[in-house]
Amino acid sequence: MGIIVQKYGGTSVGTIAKIKNVAKKILAAKAAGDQVVAVVSAMGQTTDALIAKIKKLAPLSAPREYDALVSIGENESAALLAQAILAQGGQAVSLTGWQAGIRTEDNHSKCKIIDVDARRIRQELNAGKIVVVAGFQGINSSGDVTTIGRGGSDTSAVVLAAALEARVCEIYTDVDGVYTADPRALPEARRLTAISHEEMLELASLGAGVMHPRAVECAKVNNMTLAVKHSQKTGKGTLITMAGEKLNTVAGVAADDNVAKIGLMRVPDAPGVAAELFGALAAARINVDVIVQSIHQEARKNDISFTVANEDYDRALKLTKEKARSWPGCAAAGNTAVAKISVVGIGMASSPGVAARMFAALGRAKINIQMISTSEIKISCIIEKKELKRALKAVHAAFGLASVKKAGSCGI
Ligand code: ADP
Ligand code: ASP
Ligand code: MG
Repeated sequence: MGIIVQKYGGTSVGTIAKIKNVAKKILAAKAAGDQVVAVVSAMGQTTDALIAKIKKLAPLSAPREYDALVSIGENESAALLAQAILAQGGQAVSLTGWQAGIRTEDNHSKCKIIDVDARRIRQELNAGKIVVVAGFQGINSSGDVTTIGRGGSDTSAVVLAAALEARVCEIYTDVDGVYTADPRALPEARRLTAISHEEMLELASLGAGVMHPRAVECAKVNNMTLAVKHSQKTGKGTLITMAGEKLNTVAGVAADDNVAKIGLMRVPDAPGVAAELFGALAAARINVDVIVQSIHQEARKNDISFTVANEDYDRALKLTKEKARSWPGCAAAGNTAVAKISVVGIGMASSPGVAARMFAALGRAKINIQMISTSEIKISCIIEKKELKRALKAVHAAFGLASVKKAGSCGI
């Protein structure tokens, strides 16, 4: 036996009744002989409500005060869960991020965890207590509370599991594992028994919200197996591990509607131009995703299009228009009615024809592909937003993901 870290997401601690159930689950793990650290998110939609409040005062709130406010949801659920464990006869203590020794970068609201001083947690565990840690938060070198980005409690849990050399890190949520597509959007999606870190990282980065990408990255770096399970039911869930299921070429399909597209026409075909445009966007901390450059019909001109997240769209379009004005004849325009559909699978690196199969599925469904981007283990297409649901269904079916294949089948 050893240390286990369990993370409970917002829906899983969304009501007092659910908190009582979670307390029971944690006590069962402790009774089985492990020392338990539980990391919690804020109850239900608490974080959204806190953000809405501060935005009423100032749309661009002071980062320090934003973090001081939005971090409190996790303090509430940590104290309630510790109290629920005590009420059921267990020994427990709740710790804030700083009490748990989670140290972050100095910037606010999306900062990275730098390290963990786990002495206090170990001390409490050795005293026989279940330690409940508030996820999503830490402390910076000035002693101020920081937060690590939306959905960050997954990362808090994995970082703590790595620091404590935990035997396993379990992510408890409102679905019973990782599916071949979001089961809420596609009922025929099926649960995977296992998925590799690489595939989960791609799926998470491409919009599969079940895990935060940074948490998967941290698990991968630390060779840590994650188990994704339902918080209110029993079941094996999905293991995120070194090698996933080897049944299909494609492990899953991700749909992302948090996408906007920006296009520039008649960009000078000269060295340094792309660096100038994307350098300006990077300096404004805007993440650019799919990029396509094509030759314009006019000589020595190119067209460039790229995508950004919806929340960065206004700033990105403004910056791009400013750049466009500095290039004679160049014009920029944007479009928020787009979405991204992606297939992910390690097997595709050695199986030709995956892209053709995806494009054919979209073609048969009469869905136009506006942009394409590929890596060794993923293919993404930018399409019209209103077609996303149909595209997900068509692509998922084209790879036979709803039916379980026999081991050894190549899946294409
Ligand atoms: P938590 O609050 O526990 O962190 P999230 O809402 O962040 O929970 O993540 C769970 C949700 O992820 C599910 O309700 C499900 O709709 C969504 N999801 C998206 N893609 C997938 C997928 N491939 N497999 C399972 N769930 C997915
Ligand atoms: N409560 C935070 C959020 O809603 C962190 C988390 O849930 O992981 O983003
Ligand atoms: Mg989550």
